Amino acid sequence: MIDFTLTDKQLEIQAKYRDFTKRWITPNALKFDELAEFPWPVVKAAYEEGIMNGPLPTQFGGNGYSLIEGAIAAEELGAGCIGIGIGIEANTLALTPLLLVANEWQQKEFYGRIHEEKGVAAYALTEPNAGSDVQGIKSTAIKHGDKYILNGHKRFITNAEVSTFMTVFALTDPERGSRSLSAFIVPTNSPGVEIKPHLMKMGQRASVQNEIIFHDVEVPATHLLGREGEGFLIAMKTFDRTRNGVGALALGAARTAYETARDWAKNRIQFGKPIAAQQAIAFMLADIDVLIETSRLLVYRSAHAYDAGLKEASKLSAMAKLYASDSAMKVATDAVQIMGGDGYSRDFMVEKIMRDVKLNQIYEGTNQVQRVVISKSILK
Ligand SMILES: Cc1cc2nc3c(=O)[nH]c(=O)nc-3n(C[C@H](O)[C@H](O)[C@H](O)COP(=O)(O)OP(=O)(O)OC[C@H]3O[C@@H](n4cnc5c(N)ncnc54)[C@H](O)[C@@H]3O)c2cc1C
Repeated sequence: MIDFTLTDKQLEIQAKYRDFTKRWITPNALKFDELAEFPWPVVKAAYEEGIMNGPLPTQFGGNGYSLIEGAIAAEELGAGCIGIGIGIEANTLALTPLLLVANEWQQKEFYGRIHEEKGVAAYALTEPNAGSDVQGIKSTAIKHGDKYILNGHKRFITNAEVSTFMTVFALTDPERGSRSLSAFIVPTNSPGVEIKPHLMKMGQRASVQNEIIFHDVEVPATHLLGREGEGFLIAMKTFDRTRNGVGALALGAARTAYETARDWAKNRIQFGKPIAAQQAIAFMLADIDVLIETSRLLVYRSAHAYDAGLKEASKLSAMAKLYASDSAMKVATDAVQIMGGDGYSRDFMVEKIMRDVKLNQIYEGTNQVQRVVISKSILK
């Protein structure tokens, strides 16, 4: 029996995040898009209202959310502003390796620190020559006694300049290449961490990204996550869990674009009647609604597969990210079209959403890379 009815707990999560988005994210979305600054006041409020760190264990101040609960929450954040939503959700990306492999001391220490400081964390994987090709990573962390000495260059790292610590991927034995890729927790204020000014970009401007240079940074050996050489697996398993959220954020933004364009089309009179009465516009709205419904189905299906520990969860998370973000791009572009010149102006949210959702097709593995993941899974 398949039941698509949300449980009371899921409805409660949806209502809580919808209400927070209405009060804190939607009213601040255009402001932080314009400022291109990390939205600290919103993140502080999110901490106060139990919105941050959804999947963290409850004993460390999180909500202990399953993936389906996290997806319901992320759709609501995305409905307000993906940029602000990513400021909140990138914490989840950075902390997921801890969820997967951290020992008891690491959990207490790092979850504790983030919660106490009401801070954010960053996930530092990408390098100038290692974007889609994670195996091209060149940063090194060489063991000397009870420390690793970290050197290297990362870029596009979300939240870096505002983070308490970063989850950093580096090679412990460069001769063994990516087979020695390992994950570490690196406090951002460690001597030798150089963070460049944040990137100026097209959309999701409330979320900040930096280039980072590590110059002989000393990292205590106790900060190694899992074992040496497990880094590639940790990175891929992290994405299996977080890609669904990228799809859910895109879905939320698509929903807002659709609702804005639909209401506009019902009220905008041209040729003596609402433009929604023209079949060309009505059919565009119908197609948009189909994309939103099908995106939600795939996001929920993928989250359910992960929570149930199904073998196809990895493939489905790639599908959910790919489909929901491609759909959101089409929805946003059509919403702008339906609203004509007003859609293209900064007076309405659809212009911003069109810029924002483009990025969901790129980060956490481009949509071409999702197709690589899916095709490998079905052809192996
Ligand atoms: C705003 C933003 C935030 C980000 N946040 C983070 C973060 O927090 N942490 C982090 O580690 N990284 C982050 N990234 C990095 C992001 O994950 C990479 O940008 C992404 O994986 C693509 O890498 P690239 O930009 O180097 O593109 P490239 O890998 O150079 O790809 C360029 C093009 O080639 C295509 N391509 C490459 N290889 C293949 C292939 N095998 N088959 C088909 N097509 C291919 C790609 O799909 C793309 O269209 C962020 C990026 C941005 C822009």
